[in-house]
Amino acid sequence: MAKVLVFIDNPGAAVKKSYLELLTLARSLGESAVALNGELSDGVAAAFAEYGVSTVVRPSAQDLDDFLVAPKAAYVAAAAETTGAGIVLLDNSPEGKEIAARVAIRLNAGVITDAIAVDADGTAHKSVLAGSYNTSCKATTSVSVVTVKANNITAEPATAPSTPETVTVEVPAAAAAARITAREQKVASGRPDLTDARIVVAGGRGLDGDFGPVEELADALGAAVGASRAATDAGWISHDAQVGQTGKTVSPQLYISAGISGAIQQKAGMQTSKVIVAVNKDAESPVFEIADFGIIGDVFDVLPQATEEIKKRKG
Ligand SMILES: Cc1cc2nc3c(=O)[nH]c(=O)nc-3n(C[C@H](O)[C@H](O)[C@H](O)COP(=O)(O)OP(=O)(O)OC[C@H]3O[C@@H](n4cnc5c(N)ncnc54)[C@H](O)[C@@H]3O)c2cc1C
Repeated sequence: MAKVLVFIDNPGAAVKKSYLELLTLARSLGESAVALNGELSDGVAAAFAEYGVSTVVRPSAQDLDDFLVAPKAAYVAAAAETTGAGIVLLDNSPEGKEIAARVAIRLNAGVITDAIAVDADGTAHKSVLAGSYNTSCKATTSVSVVTVKANNITAEPATAPSTPETVTVEVPAAAAAARITAREQKVASGRPDLTDARIVVAGGRGLDGDFGPVEELADALGAAVGASRAATDAGWISHDAQVGQTGKTVSPQLYISAGISGAIQQKAGMQTSKVIVAVNKDAESPVFEIADFGIIGDVFDVLPQATEEIKKRKG
């Protein structure tokens, strides 16, 4: 039976959905352990039991967040050695990928990023070239380190809860080389995180500087707001919202593309979305080649009507 380690970084009071997806995947592959950084609150401990985790590893040092990722990677590598994990799973965030690469170096392991599924033998599946090919790949080493995209696995608790044992591992002091000297919290939008969101409403150059209709539809749906690079470069919305090759990769259940032409670099970040709805006034726009539903129309007519109808049905 494969031993699988999941890295969970600062879950706070409750384990977020993308981590629950990793725990579900880990359990489906074999015996699952967690390398936890941060507090083990009651809610987090309950989620680990509910998702069938057999071992919760904790670091000897409690100051990993005071440094850039190197100590976290050293910790995850030590946790993998302690638990005998053959597969190490991390989230697919930029930080998750950087930690994965550093863990792989420490364990002399193969690393695979952007996976959408993993088999029990460590074979990982990816959707590549803007979603036009699916590839399977497998590390040639005894340990594989895999980062998995959110929203590709359905999070499901185990049939019976587990009673995880807790183990503490030493974190090598040498890894603590670059200290964080200041932190400034950004004002929260109240919307879900773009990479985790089940629904994304994204706007492009067709919005002509006015993201109001996109934001109103997003709020009616409880969605995150995304954007094309044309929109972020124009300064209409923050660069954090950019979806695509040089922006964020999203894979929501529903992606609503509004006033976006569907360039290959935009598709690269959203083509694995389950359902794509495109609103564009040009019937020849390439976005319609990948859309499951297409509306040929003006975003300023279509989006407010959709928002109004959704609000009516909800209320
Ligand atoms: C190396 C590189 C990396 C890149 N990375 C990214 C990336 O990460 N993400 C990204 O998005 N792009 C990226 N780009 C840019 C990409 O090539 C496109 O230029 C960009 O995606 C275009 O944005 P857009 O679709 O909003 O604008 P446009 O291509 O100008 O399309 C606007 C669309 O809006 C429609 N429209 C106009 N008015 C309305 C209206 N009133 N109602 C309805 N529809 C309307 C038009 O018909 C058109 O289809 C990258 C490019 C390069 C070279």
